[in-house]
Amino acid sequence: MATPQRTCIGCRRRRPQSDLVRLVADHGRVRTARRGAPGRGAYLCADVACLEAADGRHAFARAFRGPVTLDASVREAVAQRDEDERR
Ligand SMILES: [Zn+2]
Repeated sequence: MATPQRTCIGCRRRRPQSDLVRLVADHGRVRTARRGAPGRGAYLCADVACLEAADGRHAFARAFRGPVTLDASVREAVAQRDEDERR
């Protein structure tokens, strides 16, 4: 079965879902989601640059259809995976 492709809300590139960090909005806070977690999702590369890009052009509010706050855990998760991939 083909790996589903998702679009990163930071750089707008389509990538395999497994390469992306899945985010969900929970009561106005954006958090990382485990695979298969319910709710409206958005995807971001494991790249801090994509996080900054998405934040800078309000892609989170657009993806989640309303104002949202980025939880600190999102930046940590992205930074962590970014680092892992550079080893
Ligand atoms: Zn990206």
